[in-house]
Amino acid sequence: MFQNLTERLESAFKQIKGEGRITELNIAATVKDIRRALVDADVNYKIAKEFTDKIKDEAMGQKVITAVSPGQLMVKIVKDELVALMGGSESELQSKGNPAVILIAGLQGSGKTTFSAKLANYLKTKKGLSPLLVAADIYRPAAIDQLKVLGEQIGVDVYSEPENKNAVQIAENAVKEARSKNKNVIIIDTAGRLAVDEQMMTEVANVKSAVKPNEILFVVDSMTGQDAVNTAKAFNDRLDFTGVVLTKLDGDTRGGAALSIKYTVEKPIKFVSSGEKMDTLDVFYPERMAQRILG
Ligand code: GDP
Repeated sequence: MFQNLTERLESAFKQIKGEGRITELNIAATVKDIRRALVDADVNYKIAKEFTDKIKDEAMGQKVITAVSPGQLMVKIVKDELVALMGGSESELQSKGNPAVILIAGLQGSGKTTFSAKLANYLKTKKGLSPLLVAADIYRPAAIDQLKVLGEQIGVDVYSEPENKNAVQIAENAVKEARSKNKNVIIIDTAGRLAVDEQMMTEVANVKSAVKPNEILFVVDSMTGQDAVNTAKAFNDRLDFTGVVLTKLDGDTRGGAALSIKYTVEKPIKFVSSGEKMDTLDVFYPERMAQRILG
């Protein structure tokens, strides 16, 4: 994951690590390399610039501290700023309710259905909850089948109404179903499109108004880099979602989405998904991610 970024950052630190003293000159050189590495990882230029300006100010401010080596000091400053950029501490999922409602939104192919099932599995096995998966994609019958197959794999019931073309009704009925079957959390997998589309947004917004979700999670393919960030902005403007899920982190992803989304939409990344298997879901910890990026 983010292998290229990690290598580039390592090389950015190389020179300053060999120096005995931290100076304006070696700070400037390191910061410039870091900025280039971020931009090449598909971080938006404005974000990369603001990020490295902060690093520079921090480093200049701490220049007089001689207890640590310049290299250690720079790595520490960059790590702290990476953590801050990705949201600081982890953000817990709100999953209490009768039932708690979690709405899943995103473009087609982003990994919504796979994530919905992984989340159900996580809530069942790690949180001891009794989830109900809801297939509310009224356009693709195959999406219902896909969710059913996954539901079966993880032993979670799937609610669907194949003949009903009203996603709001399906969601409302699913809430009733959950209550009658003692399910304490429902995960609604909505329809996606290939691009941001007014009809899709209206539909998800209507489901939101009808079932008042505890969480609206926006699912995005991390391989799409800056596009992921633009899509996040479009969904957030319309849905005011509560959190982000980054998928396909097992792929050849450069890191831009992970580093820019929180900054752009001011919403936390809550989960990262890294595979097609049901247990490849992790809570997002900015601290751990920063550590991984730094290698
Ligand atoms: P949806 O259209 O948003 O519901 O997306 P799907 O859940 O159907 O996922 C689209 C494709 O991406 C499928 O082939 C999934 O198996 C695959 N996929 C989903 N999440 C991941 C992931 O984290 N890693 C990888 N490698 N593939 C994924």
